Amino acid sequence: MHAELVCFESACRAAYPITEVIYNCPKCGGLLEASYDFSGYDAGALKRAWRERRMSNTPLDQSGVWRYREMFPFLDSLEHAVTLREGNTPLLDAPRAAGYGGLERLTFKHQGFNPTGSFKDNGMTAGAAQARRLGMKRVACVSTGNTSASMAAYASAGGLQPVIFIPHGNISYGKLAQALEYGAQTLQVEANFDQILKLVRVLAERLGIYLLNSINPFRIEGQKSIIIEMMDQLDWNPPDWIVVPGGNLGNVSAFGKALRELSSLGFIPRIPKLAVVQAEGAAPFHEFMRHPAADRFVPVDHPATLATAIKIGDPVSWPKAWSEITMSGGVVEKVSEQEIADAKAIVGLCGIGCEPASAATLAGIRKLTASRVMDADANVVAVLTGNVLKDPDYIYQYHTGKLQDPSGNVLQSTFGNRPAVVSNSADRIIALLG
Ligand SMILES: *Cc1c(COP(=O)(O)O)cnc(C)c1O
Repeated sequence: MHAELVCFESACRAAYPITEVIYNCPKCGGLLEASYDFSGYDAGALKRAWRERRMSNTPLDQSGVWRYREMFPFLDSLEHAVTLREGNTPLLDAPRAAGYGGLERLTFKHQGFNPTGSFKDNGMTAGAAQARRLGMKRVACVSTGNTSASMAAYASAGGLQPVIFIPHGNISYGKLAQALEYGAQTLQVEANFDQILKLVRVLAERLGIYLLNSINPFRIEGQKSIIIEMMDQLDWNPPDWIVVPGGNLGNVSAFGKALRELSSLGFIPRIPKLAVVQAEGAAPFHEFMRHPAADRFVPVDHPATLATAIKIGDPVSWPKAWSEITMSGGVVEKVSEQEIADAKAIVGLCGIGCEPASAATLAGIRKLTASRVMDADANVVAVLTGNVLKDPDYIYQYHTGKLQDPSGNVLQSTFGNRPAVVSNSADRIIALLG
């Protein structure tokens, strides 16, 4: 199989060996993507092979990422792959959330069911495999949480030393706890995400550490499996819309690439529209897409949102995201802290639950149906990116009416569910429970 790294910029398209340790195009500085010669692929035969692998006891066949390995054939040998049985995440019907979002029906694909609780595992299993294949000993990332939790797990599982850099005081304890438990060397830096990313790129070069931030094209390759698995679960009938929160915009870039490849190889008859939802305080891409032009991207200097997973002011993958959203005929929406918090409570009331960033999807759907961009009878799949237990402080504060937005305003506990304190008395409790 011929695989290479290609510059994403259409004016450049320079190509490099798949084993080159580069994160941007050395010629023009553009983003890189993995590119393959898929000639000779038979969609029908692959669909059957992937179904059969579900009954296999082989670890890589059991992985909801590596099961679809023909779609990201960048490794020369599968012995480098590291699996914790990532992917395999369910499609869940959520009637109550559908009603709240102004839809007749809504399906969630819940990436929070992954081994470390977020979709980052889909990409990290691929990025860690490439690190091993390159003979790297250490891997690093900057993260507001889920990337470090995931990288720590996959590095340790694969015999690599994880080093994580986190913005001081800007991370949920659930996620930091995971990174510590999985053995990551952890550095809290007094700078914001975007500043630390620049710093780490210098360190990676000088110390020979492999970078596993979302700029890493192999993580994007692994994240394509979210879409491939979704289409497999839908018997290859694409929905009208796929909705996803946007931070660094790697995920939507992966979704678009997967859809283009599946469509051109004849796996799916058409491409769904992609909708990206950002938090109002960290919405540079939403602003950009109102009047897009290559030289007009303006980062947000001080991104602010309680949804820390999408608190990104200078998203690295915006050129890819721009191209993929345009290709799909999709949109970008933004939502307030209150809208995220209330939507999150509704996802919880479906018995499903998710972390704050994930709930931006439902909040965004509610706005998109209200403005009639999305039809009430549209077939919509929203991707819940992270597990409900990632950020328990947020949940407790919301339900007890103490949740403050980044400016210090207390948010409404619209669907609050306060624990009641009662005395040790059967009569009192019976009176309370009716
Ligand atoms: C990383 C992350 C996001 C943002 O994804 P991008 O690829 O950076 O746009 C959203 N939600 C959760 C839970 C995440 O961990």
